[in-house]
Amino acid sequence: MPAQIGVTGLAVMGANLARNFARNGYTVALHNRSVAKTDALLAAHGDEGDFIRTETLAELVENLEVPRRVLIMVKAGAPVDAVIEQLVPLLEAGDIVIDAGNSHYEDTRRREAALAEKGLHFVGVGVSGGEEGALLGPSIMPGGSRESYDALGPMLEKISAKVDGEPCCAWIGTDGAGHFVKMVHNGIEYADMQVIGEAYDLLRSGAGIEPAEQAAIFADWNKGDLASFLIEITAEVLGHVDAKTGKPFIDVVVDSAGQKGTGRWTVVSGLDLGSPVSGIAESVFARALSSQRGQRAEAQTALEGAVSEVALPENFVEDVRQALYASKLVSYAQGLDMLTSAAGEYGWDLKLDEIASLWRAGCIIRAELLKDITKAYAGGARPANLLFAPAFRDAIAAALPAWRRVVATAVQLGIPVPVFSSSLAYYDGLRRDRLPAALTQGLRDLFGAHTYGRIDAEGTFHTLWGGDKSEVAAVDTH
Ligand code: NDP
Repeated sequence: MPAQIGVTGLAVMGANLARNFARNGYTVALHNRSVAKTDALLAAHGDEGDFIRTETLAELVENLEVPRRVLIMVKAGAPVDAVIEQLVPLLEAGDIVIDAGNSHYEDTRRREAALAEKGLHFVGVGVSGGEEGALLGPSIMPGGSRESYDALGPMLEKISAKVDGEPCCAWIGTDGAGHFVKMVHNGIEYADMQVIGEAYDLLRSGAGIEPAEQAAIFADWNKGDLASFLIEITAEVLGHVDAKTGKPFIDVVVDSAGQKGTGRWTVVSGLDLGSPVSGIAESVFARALSSQRGQRAEAQTALEGAVSEVALPENFVEDVRQALYASKLVSYAQGLDMLTSAAGEYGWDLKLDEIASLWRAGCIIRAELLKDITKAYAGGARPANLLFAPAFRDAIAAALPAWRRVVATAVQLGIPVPVFSSSLAYYDGLRRDRLPAALTQGLRDLFGAHTYGRIDAEGTFHTLWGGDKSEVAAVDTH
């Protein structure tokens, strides 16, 4: 019997996705550049379902039912192009090439356009949930043509995570939409982790609460509106004791955070789209600063702190919880706002309720909050900003006094809280009647004749700053 899907690239992610398809009853043809990985997979898990062993891409393609579905799960970047180049001559119009790796959405747009010219479908799929998710049910964000989803979607839905029986997989939009949404998911993940880190730091350095006690606090928080996978595993990490030293595990880990690049991609796209993803940007920068270990060491003696002695607010732990919730909400609001901007730019009809819904399980940012976000956009509701949805507007209003107290206290104590504070600045910036951008416009007009608009007239204007300072209508150069 021909296979319903072929998987090429059988490192950890590809192998687990292949097993997931097989465990769900599909016949899966297997291929890897070096045959050893194919054989290792078959030796360890060949009894989990129907696999077909192949040694070449040509053999892989020969063993597939039509339209052929070939899922590529190799290292992102040039290897994906290399595999596509070898694969394309072996395929026929109507076949579907799937890239389920962490590819940049611009690469996906380019590849989709190139394959469409040959009558092939190219589907860029965002897959979240890591190794375990790939095997047991990830959150899946497929892009590509609607037609390709009809032939592929049911299979992806079957292997995806489920919430109350509903798959965490839905067609996202054309060309790079799936990879874009996955990228923003990862950006939000960065911010989510950073706000947790800021809460930990405030409780430890501000309130002197040791990791073991914090583990209990986070476990408790996980029962309320912060309930999420990341809060759950924070309790686990903080509660862990290093076997070698008997110290809290967190105290023996080098405090310099790594990154693979999807957070940076999100920020770069945010800048390109003019989308204020400040929480995600601060999270990426916080990791970058943590990695500047030489400068940080020198700063220990070179730089003065001049911190203030302040009494902690009475219910500091609860204040921190509320500040964490509010900042987290802002990060989601910013990420979703960026999706709206991208939808306009790239012509995607992104359905924010479906996207929030398919992040509810299987992926790293899975959280109770996402159920409420799904509801906020349900039935075609389109609040211009997530924070305007009544439930969130009220939640932020309730958290605001605590949020301000926490940021003010952190500043006085000299504890950096870049996402707590930038999220508050975003919130205040959004709701402010007049922004100092008017002054920025005045300055730009003075030094560069960049023109400005008036609040009381249509059109653009320029003041003759070097002359009699009279105002003239500016010529529209667009
Ligand atoms: P790797 O990213 O480590 O890639 C290894 C695989 O790529 C091997 O099968 C290797 O073949 C193959 N490969 C590399 N170069 C080429 C080439 N030029 N031609 C053909 N094959 C090549 O594998 P992972 O399983 O860790 O990740 C796969 C993808 O999934 C990546 O895009 C990664 O970013 C993403 N990923 C996603 C995660 C998630 O949570 N969604 C988590 C981890 C990864 P060989 O064995 O012959 O060397």
